[in-house]
Amino acid sequence: MTEMNLTEFDINDVTELFKTHVDAAIIVDTESDRFRTVIKRGIFSNYLDDTGKYKDLIVKLWFHFIDSNENLVDDYQVFASNAGDFRGKYSRRIKISLENEEIPRLAQMTVYPFDNGHKYLYLLDELDDSESIDEVLTTNKINTIQNSYLFSMYIDLAQDMTSSINITEISEDTVNVQIKYSEWRMMIVNMFLPEDQEQFLRRTDPEYLKKNFTPGRTSSYDCMMRNMEGNFIWVKLIFSRAQTQIEDDYRFVFMVQNIHENSLEILSTLKKYEEMAIKDALTGVFNHGEIEKQLNNAIAMRQKNDMPVLSVMMLDLDLFKSINDRFGHSTGDTTLKTFAGIMNDFSVDEALLVGRWGGEEFVLICHNKDSDQALELAERIRKAVEEHIFPEINHITCSIGVTEIKTGDTFSEVFNRIDKAMYDSKHNGRNMVTLL
Ligand code: GH3
Ligand code: MG
Ligand code: MG
Repeated sequence: MTEMNLTEFDINDVTELFKTHVDAAIIVDTESDRFRTVIKRGIFSNYLDDTGKYKDLIVKLWFHFIDSNENLVDDYQVFASNAGDFRGKYSRRIKISLENEEIPRLAQMTVYPFDNGHKYLYLLDELDDSESIDEVLTTNKINTIQNSYLFSMYIDLAQDMTSSINITEISEDTVNVQIKYSEWRMMIVNMFLPEDQEQFLRRTDPEYLKKNFTPGRTSSYDCMMRNMEGNFIWVKLIFSRAQTQIEDDYRFVFMVQNIHENSLEILSTLKKYEEMAIKDALTGVFNHGEIEKQLNNAIAMRQKNDMPVLSVMMLDLDLFKSINDRFGHSTGDTTLKTFAGIMNDFSVDEALLVGRWGGEEFVLICHNKDSDQALELAERIRKAVEEHIFPEINHITCSIGVTEIKTGDTFSEVFNRIDKAMYDSKHNGRNMVTLL
């Protein structure tokens, strides 16, 4: 077909040109949900199947997952219910993620509906390589800077309509579909955790929005929501009412912002502070304030008969001062940590709360243990400490006082009993357990 004059071309030559120049041509039947690839070359040779379900084709071409080959979760389809549904000719750029290639290729996709919109002809062409890499890199950069708004749309409560839906996660294009706001709310509610759904429905209720948003007002809240891949991520839901003078003008912008990374960081910082507030810095067990609070709670629980049996013990290292004197303060610290570690090991199996009362004195709260069971446990702890080989110092022992909490006991009565029991162990020769 070389060296032809323009006047010599006819329709057969056009078909011939198609065969050699278009990268891919696909025929789709929406009614039977099938597609058939008629032409494929270049990057599309392996990328496109010869036949298959139209829905799968759409997921592949439309919801281009940049970093993975995952499928779109069903629930997410509510965001793009018209994806792959064309009334007229349609053209856009799409990203093609090839296996083993980090940067997706860009292609132009054109869709021609025929047969009253039941069938489509898809034409796909890869765009120039270097240009496409530049564009993809720039888009990624912009997306990062824009703090990734996942989703946005306009809402008109007076008309009960949504419009200009934009799913940044999928494309920069606006989805040209109109969904009733009332219907959309009920479709999207499944994207949230069951325990958060009531809150979503309450805060997106038209009457709530009308009542609580003066013109121009913006308000938001954070919750977890499913993303395209089906994983729950932290998002900020933002509602903003249009600035307006007209009383019954209730137009809003609704946006979903991805705040996942940030939220995880904040949560872990909060957890760290929370731990710092209740844990002893040296040994990692509860600090004085926390174990005292826990002991108070335990006594209150016992009084209300929420826990029929409950015991407490106090443990004190024997002749610990001499450890500091002989081996130094730092070895003393290591000994305290090791001692706390032994009690912690017991706490896993025995439902114990371990706290440092101060210095080398510790308190254990033993849930669901009567005096006999607590005595038996104390004896096992005493033995474990006696037999343990501590770094540098080798051996150290401890004295223990045990008591069971009875109805009517006050905090000071309980405390005085374990304190006295522990000192009785000291006076009677140390490395002993006493029950009072
Ligand atoms: P007893 O068998 O009668 O309990 O003798 P003891 O030496 O263990 O008792 P005493 O109360 O005389 O000494 C406790 C020592 O614990 C004194 C103090 O220097 C030491 N101590 C308290 N807190 C710490 C700490 O955080 N680190 C270190 N290394 N030592 C501590
Ligand atoms: Mg001591
Ligand atoms: Mg002491």
